[in-house]
Amino acid sequence: MSRFFDHKLCDIEAYVPGEQPKNIGELIKLNTNESPFPPSPAVIRAVDSAAVRDLPLYPDPTCAALANTLSAQLGVKPSQVTFGNGSDELLAFCFHALCEHGAAFADITYGFYKVFAKMFSVAAELVPLREDYTLAVEDYARCDGTVFIANPNAPTGIALKRKDIEALLGQNRNRLVVVDEAYVDFGADSAVPLLSKYDNLLVIGTFSKSRQLAGARLGYAVGSEELIADLNTLRFSFNPYNINRLTLLAGEAAVRDVQYFDYCRKLIMENRQYVSEKLRGLGFQVLPSMTNFVFAGSGRFASGKEYYEALRSRNILVRYFDQDRLRDFVRITIGTTDQMDALISATKDILGEEDYDCDY
Ligand SMILES: *Cc1c(COP(=O)(O)O)cnc(C)c1O
Repeated sequence: MSRFFDHKLCDIEAYVPGEQPKNIGELIKLNTNESPFPPSPAVIRAVDSAAVRDLPLYPDPTCAALANTLSAQLGVKPSQVTFGNGSDELLAFCFHALCEHGAAFADITYGFYKVFAKMFSVAAELVPLREDYTLAVEDYARCDGTVFIANPNAPTGIALKRKDIEALLGQNRNRLVVVDEAYVDFGADSAVPLLSKYDNLLVIGTFSKSRQLAGARLGYAVGSEELIADLNTLRFSFNPYNINRLTLLAGEAAVRDVQYFDYCRKLIMENRQYVSEKLRGLGFQVLPSMTNFVFAGSGRFASGKEYYEALRSRNILVRYFDQDRLRDFVRITIGTTDQMDALISATKDILGEEDYDCDY
């Protein structure tokens, strides 16, 4: 650390992204919950050479075309959505400017919340998940600060029902609840329909997990016109051109191609079911996931790290967490059927089990 670094941040622990190897080669990458599928063909057509030729010009800071398209699909007004350079940027705005009375979130949830709380000097209250890794909304009744809920949660994969989110909103209508729906498209309930009834709700979404655009960096927020105007004040006070031209085009084409979106997420949900059953058959505990990953652990390993390392040496990359209550598990991104078969057969190999599935 240089002597110029602000003391109030000297003990910040930066978020550690999952490993992004440069040469994927034969590696099966199941560690950062990306989509195993290419972007929609419509996205590939939209980002054409004409779009590249327009790059000398700044992008539309209002993201009007994308806002019109996405808001129509979500059933809200265009003035009720705004965009971030990844949903992480919007979450940062929330911690920066919507947490005057602190923040509350689960002890086991998306790691960035803690980092942002520190970054923006927000007092954070950690609310423990229950023994079975579920979140009990009544545990938040006494919290005064802005509540952050990843729904479904990460890295557990467990989802709350819409009525649970509604109960949380009703606990105190003067307290903001930010629902991070990064994984909602894989079978969980979205809170967006609650916006017509609750103005203390802000929903955050991303194109990274279910829309094949993690590399384009595009996230969105949906809320009351007032809350979205606040977020736009922050965007325009920080980086009005936070969504670049190519990403605007890619995002709009991705939203329009509903068929491809539905096709990809259906495959992920089927493969999730498949791999969960296979892992359970091998004696793993697999938490019930509503996401594009499973959180799984087996008593046959001393720790999730040990399973991670055994998979790593077989060219399969997953993620483990060196954190209380998470040490026994790994988080496995749901990939293609071939990738899931490779994971299962590597796991059988590690456990020294016969691979009865193969033909001989
Ligand atoms: C991946 C993820 C995000 C961040 O997504 P980006 O849009 O890529 O920044 C936010 N919240 C949760 C819970 C995530 O898993």
